[in-house]
Amino acid sequence: MYALPKEYEVIVVGSGHAGVEAALASARLGCPTLLLTQNLDTVAQMSCNPAIGGSAKGQIVREIDALGGAMGVNADATGIQFRMLNRSKGPSVQAPRVQCDKKAYQFRMKAVLESTAGLDIKQANVSRIIVDGKGNVTGVETDLGMAVYGKAVILTSGTFLRGLLHVGETSRPGGRMADTSSGLSDSICQLGFEAGRFKTGTPCRIAGRSIDFTKCEMQRGDEPLPRFSFLPPKAAALGEIFTLNRDPFHVEQVPCWITHTTARTHDIIRRNLYRSPLYNGKIEGTGPRYCPSIEDKIVKFAERESHQIFLEPEGRHTDEFYVNGLSTSLPYDVQVDFIRSVPGLEHAELMRPGYAVEYDYFPPTQLRPTLETKLVDGLYFAGQVNGTSGYEEAAAQGLIAGANAALKVRQRAPLILARHEAYIGVLIDDLTSIGTDEPYRMFTSRAEHRLSLRQDNADQRLTDKGFAVGLVDAMRREVFGAKMAQLGELRKSVYELKIQGKPVSALLKMTDFKVKSLPAEIQRLSPHEIWDLVEIDLKYEGYVQRQAGQNQKLIRTRAKPIPSDIDYERIAGLRRESRQKLAAARPTSIGHAEQLRGVTPADISILSIWLEKNRLDICREMAPS
Ligand SMILES: Cc1cc2nc3c(=O)[nH]c(=O)nc-3n(C[C@H](O)[C@H](O)[C@H](O)COP(=O)(O)OP(=O)(O)OC[C@H]3O[C@@H](n4cnc5c(N)ncnc54)[C@H](O)[C@@H]3O)c2cc1C
Repeated sequence: MYALPKEYEVIVVGSGHAGVEAALASARLGCPTLLLTQNLDTVAQMSCNPAIGGSAKGQIVREIDALGGAMGVNADATGIQFRMLNRSKGPSVQAPRVQCDKKAYQFRMKAVLESTAGLDIKQANVSRIIVDGKGNVTGVETDLGMAVYGKAVILTSGTFLRGLLHVGETSRPGGRMADTSSGLSDSICQLGFEAGRFKTGTPCRIAGRSIDFTKCEMQRGDEPLPRFSFLPPKAAALGEIFTLNRDPFHVEQVPCWITHTTARTHDIIRRNLYRSPLYNGKIEGTGPRYCPSIEDKIVKFAERESHQIFLEPEGRHTDEFYVNGLSTSLPYDVQVDFIRSVPGLEHAELMRPGYAVEYDYFPPTQLRPTLETKLVDGLYFAGQVNGTSGYEEAAAQGLIAGANAALKVRQRAPLILARHEAYIGVLIDDLTSIGTDEPYRMFTSRAEHRLSLRQDNADQRLTDKGFAVGLVDAMRREVFGAKMAQLGELRKSVYELKIQGKPVSALLKMTDFKVKSLPAEIQRLSPHEIWDLVEIDLKYEGYVQRQAGQNQKLIRTRAKPIPSDIDYERIAGLRRESRQKLAAARPTSIGHAEQLRGVTPADISILSIWLEKNRLDICREMAPS
C-alpha cells in the first residue's frame, strides 16, 4: 500500500453537490483538505434535471449562499433561464429556480475547487474507510492501493453505492448512466452501519432539432433576473475563472417549452407495464412518492387524462433537451414509442434513454446533528447517502458536514442550525432525529416556521452566523452590513413618514397597498429591493408573531414528560399500532413520541390530553423520592 506523504485534516469522498460544498467549507475554515472522486470530469454533475432551486429547494440555495457556499453563485454564473416560482403567492412560498448550462456548471465548479487555497483534488476510487482500534477514522484506501490519512472523512458518494441501473429488462451496475458503481458500502457495513435500499429515476434526453416547437407552449424566464446569490453580480463575479454569463446584468435567456401526454401515451405505457422493472418486481428499493415515474403516474392517477411535460434545454451550446415529467425505466423501444405520442415529439430522436437507479443509503438516524456518525468518531455522511434526493438537499448537508468536520478538527464548537433558523436546520433535524423511509426531499410544509424562513431573508438569518464560524468572508460580510444599514434606515423611516396623517408603515401593512402606490419622492429613499423587504416584513408581521406563539406552545407540548411506567392500555382511544409502538419504545417526552413511525398526530393529541388530565398523579410519580 502506497501512503500519500501529505496528511490532510479533512478528506472528502465524492465530488457531487454534497462533496464540493463539504470540501469548500472545510478549506474555507483553514483545514488542509483533500477531495477524492471517481471522475474529475463529472464534478458537480446534475444527474437528473439541469436546474437548481424550485419550491423549498430555492430557499435552501439562498441559505447555502448566505453561509458562503458555492451553489448559488455557480448557478447564477451559468444560468440560462431564471424564474421566481409562485410569484403570485405569498413570499414564504416564493422560490428562485435557475435552469443551468449543465456542462458550464460542472466546469465552473471544478475551477472554483481548483482555485481554492488549501484544497487538493484527485481522481481516485475509494474502496475502504480506515478506522483505528478506538473507533476513530484515520483515513481512506483507494482501489489502486493508495492510503491517505486524515483526521476527518466525509462520505458523499451519492447514488453510487452498489448502484444498479435499470432500463426495461436490462440491468447493470452503475452509479449513474456511464459511471461505475462503488462497492464501498460493504466496507462501511463491516464497521457496523445499517444500510437500506432506495431508487430514483430520470427521463430520456432528446434532440432539439427533432422537436416541433410550434406544437408546444413557450415558457420564458423572468426579468429582472431572480438570482440566487446575495452578493451583487459584480462582487459575485470577482476572481472568476470561468463564467458563462460574462455580463451578469444582461443574460440572454433561453426558453423552456410545455407539452403534455395523451391518451395514446397512457395506453402504450399501460400495455407495457409488465416490462417495467418497477412493476415486474426487479426493483426492490423504495422510490420517491412525490417525484413518481410516468409508469407510477399512469397507475396511481389512473383518472388523469394528461400530464404536463416541460422540455428543458441542457445548455446553451448543446441540442439536448431534458424531458421533465417523463422519468421512466421502461425498455428502450417503449420509450421511443410513448415519447412519439406526445404533441411536438412525433419525430423525437432519443439521445439518451431514461433509466432507474437503485442504490444503498445509510439511515440518517445513525448520525449526530453535526452529520458525524455516532459509530465512528470523525466520520461524516452527507447527501444522497443519507437517504435524501436532490442537489440542494445534498449541497446543504455537504456544507454543514464540511464545516463541522473542520470545526471538530480545530476543537471548536459545532455549527448546528435550529429548525426556526433555516430550512437546512429542518432538513438535518428531520433526518437525524426521525429518519426517512423514502428518498427525502424538502417541502415548505415540512417547516413549521416557514413564514419566517423565506428566500428573501436568508442572508438576515444566516450571514452573521456564517461569519462568526469563518464560512463567510469579509467581502460578503461588508456587502451584508451595507444592506442592513439601508434596511435599518428605511425600517425607521416608514414609522416616521406620514401620508395624510397615516404612517407609511400602517399603509404598507394593508394587503392591497403596495410600495409603488407611494409618492415617488418617498420611493426614492431606498432601492426597490430594500423596499420589498420592508413591505414583506410589515405585511407578515402579524402572521409571524402568531406563528411564533403557536411554536412556543408546540415546544412546551413537546417537552411534556411521559412517565417511564405508563400503561398505554389504560389510555382510551389510542390505536392498537400506536399502543404497541409506544409501549415498545417507551418515549420519555411527547416530542420523542412524535418521532415514532406509525404513531399518528391524532394519537399524540390523545396521549397529550391524557397526560394533562393525569398531570397531578404523574408529577407525584416523577418527583424524586
Ligand atoms: C438517475 C438519477 C435520477 C435522479 N433523479 C432525481 C430527481 O428527479 N430529483 C432529484 O431531486 N434528484 C434526483 N436525483 C438525485 C440527485 O442527482 C442527487 O440527489 C444529488 O446529485 C446528490 O448529490 P450527492 O452529492 O449526494 O451525490 P452525487 O451527485 O451522486 O455525487 C456522488 C459523487 O461521489 C463520487 N463517488 C461515488 N463513490 C465514490 C468512491 N467510492 N470514491 C470516490 N468517489 C466516489 C461520484 O463519482 C460522484 O462524484 C437523481 C439521480 C440519479 C442518478
